[in-house]
Amino acid sequence: MQPQLEAMYQEIILDHYKNPHHKGLRDPYDAEAHHVNPTCGDEVTLRVRLAGVDAGDDAKIEDVSYDAMGCSISQASASVLTDLLIGRTVGEAQRVSEAFLALMQSKGEGEPDEDLLEDAVAFAGVSKYPARIKCALLSWMAWKDATSRAFAEESSS
Ligand code: ZN
Repeated sequence: MQPQLEAMYQEIILDHYKNPHHKGLRDPYDAEAHHVNPTCGDEVTLRVRLAGVDAGDDAKIEDVSYDAMGCSISQASASVLTDLLIGRTVGEAQRVSEAFLALMQSKGEGEPDEDLLEDAVAFAGVSKYPARIKCALLSWMAWKDATSRAFAEESSS
């Protein structure tokens, strides 16, 4: 990766870390998940609020709220996640989530889809550092978990 690009990406991550978007736990919500990354000490509690949860993949993500502590990568990633997922359908969000996971598994060789991933492309460089990948993925795993809980609760009620 070009040094200029790397510097720009670091700037984006730092900016989300210092000025996180949509931070704080909000009501109402359908499900919550708490995930920890013990190797780094990161923690995230994340809540999802869905509209039309019985519509499956077409359910709309009305809100994703969270509280996070830990390193700058894990916290910036949660902020970027909320920007990307709020307002989308669950099906669309899964596509974004899969693209981000693929980027994290690219070992620094990925060519991210900027239209789809927006600020999340800034984590491209993180994929070179296996120890940090879990930091970047923490909130995405919590989102997946909370979303499947929201669907499970709907089908059991
Ligand atoms: Zn971390």
